[in-house]
Amino acid sequence: ERMLDIRQNNCNPMTMKVTYYKKPVHIHQGYMQWLWDTDGRRYLDLFAGVATVSVGHCHPKVTAAAEKQLRRLWHTTSIYMYPTVHEYTDKLAALLPDPLKVVYLVNSGSEANDLAMLMARVHTGNFDIITLRGSYHGGSPLATGLTSNSAYKFPVASGFGCHNTMCPDVFRGPWGGRHCRDSPVQTVRNCSCSQDHCQANEMYIDQLKEMFATTVPNRIAAFFGEPIQGVGGAVQYPKNFLKETYKLVRERGGLCIADEVQTGFGRTGSHFWGFQGHGVLPDMVTMAKGIANGFPMAAVVTTQEIARSFAKGVHFNTFGGNPVACAIASSVLDTIKEDGSQHISANIGTYLLHELAKLREKYEIVGDVRGKGLMIGVEMVKNKASQEPLPPQDLGEIFEDTKDMGVLIGKGGLYGQTFRIKPPMCITKADADFFLAVFNRALQNYME
Ligand code: PMP
Repeated sequence: ERMLDIRQNNCNPMTMKVTYYKKPVHIHQGYMQWLWDTDGRRYLDLFAGVATVSVGHCHPKVTAAAEKQLRRLWHTTSIYMYPTVHEYTDKLAALLPDPLKVVYLVNSGSEANDLAMLMARVHTGNFDIITLRGSYHGGSPLATGLTSNSAYKFPVASGFGCHNTMCPDVFRGPWGGRHCRDSPVQTVRNCSCSQDHCQANEMYIDQLKEMFATTVPNRIAAFFGEPIQGVGGAVQYPKNFLKETYKLVRERGGLCIADEVQTGFGRTGSHFWGFQGHGVLPDMVTMAKGIANGFPMAAVVTTQEIARSFAKGVHFNTFGGNPVACAIASSVLDTIKEDGSQHISANIGTYLLHELAKLREKYEIVGDVRGKGLMIGVEMVKNKASQEPLPPQDLGEIFEDTKDMGVLIGKGGLYGQTFRIKPPMCITKADADFFLAVFNRALQNYME
């Protein structure tokens, strides 16, 4: 009886497929980590529009920058240049290591990955692309080919030369993984310990080499990898996994592309870019979401050499890098620095991981707690012995209960079994404690 007749939402394709247990929330206003619905109820936002509102809803500094630009100039296209685009691209490029200095501005993560895919094919002359199981790289026809999660595929011919079957099943989540005692956040099944001597690491790398030897074409255009899988459920790779993958990809003439759409801009805490946590240097970095705090904006950053190959044709994007987006994104970079957002990600993220690990010990249905910085996954299982995913309906119940108590979190994972915590990077320890108390209560309610 908790089900709401979804026909009331049938004019919106976004909500048509969603099963609501209660009345859907209609958000009306936001400020920093807080959102208010049309009934005036306040929520702590721990999902940030899928890791997108990086520094806080309607952050006063970013809003002021947007207002100023809105009064000055909205649009010219890249045919006529404007100062904000140069200021921004210089500022962004300065945050990436050499030789990643050429910036292409587009409007969404999918567009950025489409562009990177095209550039890789043009530069290498090869066609095949490798991605990982559990990955999500976008919803455009090309980016859907990169995405592995079948929930996002449609029953039409797709693939576009993309192979996403090389990653051992274990990276779908912890299935079949091995527990390592050295893990800083003790996981039940998936080892994310980063220790060199971890046997699980060696096992994964051997599987990876075997897979390359048997299933990957000799010549490839590129490899796309998220430094931590986002939609896949905060899935982390074992130490050296990405490094070894990059090596194998380059041996086949492919470019290595880091999809930083979720992991960029300090979200992982310890590094500004997720790839830096793996000791790799990509040939291209794609970014979106947190780049402009919720304003549509995205980028591909690459090398002069790759840009020169691509300059043989004309690339044009009407809205890409428009003055308003550039002014906002520029202000976001300043704000991340001034507000210490990356530092907050590291500190509050570590605290949350530590405290959530206690809930994992307490509840049979909390199977795994993982992630880095403010990119956290809480994987729900029927019980720890079977490790079977908790059905989405049950997850929905806990989700709705958490929402009713004033906290918004996300869901994900290949089986819809993982809660995702990715708040604006302005949350406080008091906010974290509020969430922990609410989540604990929701788990308790479910168990009773
Ligand atoms: N890459 C990753 C890692 C993502 O998480 C997403 C969006 N969830 C995309 C690409 C696609 O971004 P967009 O929705 O802006 O097209």
